[in-house]
Amino acid sequence: MIKVAKFGGSSVAGASQFQKVKAIVQSDSNRRVVVASAAGKRDSEDHKLTDLLYLCHAHLTYGVSCDEILRAIQERFAEIRSQLGLRYDVEGEFAALRASLTRDTPVDFLVSRGEYFTSRLLAEYLDYTFLDAADCVFFRMDGRFDLEKTYQAIGAAVQNSRGLVIPGFYGSLPTGRVKVMTRGGSDISGALAAAAVDAAVYENWTDVSGILMADPKIVENPSPIRRITYGELRELAFMGASVLHEESVQPVKDKGIPLNIRNTNQPDDPGTIITNQPDPQETRSDRFLTGIAGRRNFTILTVRRHNMNASAMLRQTLELFEQYRATVEHITLGLDSFALVTASTALGDRLFDLVAELQKTLSPDDVQIQDSLALVAVVGRKMAYRAGTSGKIFQALGDAGISVRTIAQAADEISIIVGVDNNNFEAAVRVLYDGFAG
Ligand code: ASP
Repeated sequence: MIKVAKFGGSSVAGASQFQKVKAIVQSDSNRRVVVASAAGKRDSEDHKLTDLLYLCHAHLTYGVSCDEILRAIQERFAEIRSQLGLRYDVEGEFAALRASLTRDTPVDFLVSRGEYFTSRLLAEYLDYTFLDAADCVFFRMDGRFDLEKTYQAIGAAVQNSRGLVIPGFYGSLPTGRVKVMTRGGSDISGALAAAAVDAAVYENWTDVSGILMADPKIVENPSPIRRITYGELRELAFMGASVLHEESVQPVKDKGIPLNIRNTNQPDDPGTIITNQPDPQETRSDRFLTGIAGRRNFTILTVRRHNMNASAMLRQTLELFEQYRATVEHITLGLDSFALVTASTALGDRLFDLVAELQKTLSPDDVQIQDSLALVAVVGRKMAYRAGTSGKIFQALGDAGISVRTIAQAADEISIIVGVDNNNFEAAVRVLYDGFAG
């Protein structure tokens, strides 16, 4: 059994964090593949090395010396090395890097050095083999992952080693050139490594004890979610919860590998487990709520026409929405009317042209616009077999004097989305959390 453990930037920010990582890795001999981000912030005043490396590259491009920034980066690594009693030749490596830099040094190569050097040091500290991501994470020329080649390379390397440390965030193109992923991409690297070795679990070690049931900026001290399905996670993420990047979930989801979000600073906390299927032991009587998320600023467009031909009118409306690049969040259909919810900011002033076009094409009796709508998603897999959930949600909001302007339920019944006034957004999240999280 192999566990893949990915450690985020704050988990490898300095020597004392490295010590925590080592204790975690050594406490379970199955943790044989480690993926590391670049050293992150040690405190709120500090800088992420990746940000400094981007800055360095900007200096290079404009022909301004980046010596000072490079020296600061080198010192971060040298300090970790010395405090942990390692031998890695940080000075020699940086002298070579500095000598190789020109205006034409590709930005991807330079910023990938954050993960590269962090992982070099971590490999020595853990006494694991360092496996350069350029030699095991492969992109095709179109920028997509070459999964077959990647899985093959990581799978082969793990067979021949007691343990591996792989830098996150980058890989290589068929030309051999280094390419970085989007920011936060080490999560994707970890998922690729987990899929490659058919890991028993993909552990994502960070500085929080899992995904929270609601936004802590709105709800005071929300509880962490213990278990969540990939489907529920997607609903929450789509509705604005800041969780893992979709791309970082796909490789493990496809292989049915559970993802466990853990806290490096509180390693005994169980964190959040994300799986394809809920735990079979799970009882139906538990609370139905998994999490709440939401976003402000939507508009409802309601079109009315007596005796309308619903399918033709909807088709024409959707075509216009596509033409005007308006998002379609929800559709509700009545006998003589239908309504679409769209993101206001994405549409902007094109709304007025869209309405004019709708009038022309559909000849409706009436088109109404209501803006300043917030959508709040109540997500929970257990809602599917529980009668009366939406009634309870309405009741709770009604008791708090919050009127519901629209409602939608996902077809698989794992989420109910209510539309409330923008002004009531935070209150609605709190009411629902207080009512159903306990
Ligand atoms: N170091 C990269 C970033 O700051 C990638 C990562 O941390 O996942 O975005």
